[in-house]
Amino acid sequence: MVTESPQEAAGRARVVLNDLDLVLPAVDALYRDLHANPELSGAEARTAGVIAERYAAAGLAVTPGVGGHGVVGVLANGAGPVVAVRADFDALPIAEDTGLPYASTAVATRADGTTVPVMHACGHDLHTASLAGAAQLLGARRELWSGTLVLIAQPAEESMQGAKAMLADGLFRGDGRFPRPDVVLAQHCAITRAGMVHHRPGLAYSACRNFRITIHGSGAHGAAPHWSVDPVVLAAQTIVMLQTVVSREVDPDEMTVLTVGSVHAGTRPNIIPAEAVLEVTLRGTSEAVMDQLQAAMERIVRGVAEAGRAPRPPDIELLEQTLPVRNDADVTARVRAVHADLFPSGDMVDLPWPNKGSEDFAYYGEPGDGRYYAGPAIPVSMWFYGSTAADLWDAASGDLRERIARMPGQHTPFYAPDRLPTLRRGVETLVGAALAFLPAPVPAQGDPA
Ligand SMILES: [Zn+2]
Ligand SMILES: [Zn+2]
Repeated sequence: MVTESPQEAAGRARVVLNDLDLVLPAVDALYRDLHANPELSGAEARTAGVIAERYAAAGLAVTPGVGGHGVVGVLANGAGPVVAVRADFDALPIAEDTGLPYASTAVATRADGTTVPVMHACGHDLHTASLAGAAQLLGARRELWSGTLVLIAQPAEESMQGAKAMLADGLFRGDGRFPRPDVVLAQHCAITRAGMVHHRPGLAYSACRNFRITIHGSGAHGAAPHWSVDPVVLAAQTIVMLQTVVSREVDPDEMTVLTVGSVHAGTRPNIIPAEAVLEVTLRGTSEAVMDQLQAAMERIVRGVAEAGRAPRPPDIELLEQTLPVRNDADVTARVRAVHADLFPSGDMVDLPWPNKGSEDFAYYGEPGDGRYYAGPAIPVSMWFYGSTAADLWDAASGDLRERIARMPGQHTPFYAPDRLPTLRRGVETLVGAALAFLPAPVPAQGDPA
């Protein structure tokens, strides 16, 4: 499919990016608007509307409401491959504490009436603003490429529902509503220095399964524990026993995690409650090891309850899950080669390890077994790019891993990307990667060569 060299593709990208300074103020304004108005997963109505407007202004054919608040923008530009680029746009229930002038003060009301602060603490606002900028630039220089660009603006990444919902709504069905992509690309900001770009073929993100476990006991007066089955004690024993799954059961060569992230039971010192609720996340690099982790977790949870004479077995509910992200080796190598031509060598830092986080981008590359889309699996690649201010990064000591651990991290109240260099590099990476697969137009017969 691809005959042009990465250097030639990078050469076209440089021409497209000549106008980056002209569009960067609009990209930055969009970023600050999204950042100040974050919305929780599944509730991104305003954000989706802003994105749809931007895509329409860039000349794309826009379809809103795909799998919930998903937006698809299509730029058809003659014969050639279909290249899809995905950016997510949901935020997190965190109270921002960055002190930035455009910091979020947003508060969301949940279905149960409770309120939570909301913050773009994962940088999805960066992804979305940069993708809109890249689309604008590519739309303005259509004489430099041929094919179809599909923008996938995806909601509900943090809840791992958005990709599945958009696919279930026919995103890759190829039935005429949207063109079926030949390749799907995405990027995620990282807490390395702004400007850095990180690639990794193969495993890029872990698989994830999140559970809610309700342990049933029977309540009593706190001074009469012999009349109860104390679910607090059962929960404590369960949590300790669960620590042996990764340390004693799984092969030490496997990268696995089991974390009990939340524990809730009881209301007062002198009341033994009737139940305790744990929330657990499992991470691993294959479906086989995830099945092993889940089976061990279920065995322990049920076994401890039975040993503790619980009146009935615990309820184990799978809340959310995603597959591992596996980057196609050829696609990743080609994107990397174009980026390596565009960026200084000091900015190109390949990832030495997979991310222990998870990403529902995994579903776009899922083998076509019919669960998520029909037909053969579409090759995918997702790369990472830095967002930390250079002075902060340079002042820290240690190797890549140690420095990352010292930066204000994502999913914390303190994540404050150095926005202009990060947005700039985010547009550059996207334009380069898209043109890696969207070839130069073939001159029509009779045109000067
Ligand atoms: Zn996140
Ligand atoms: Zn994220």
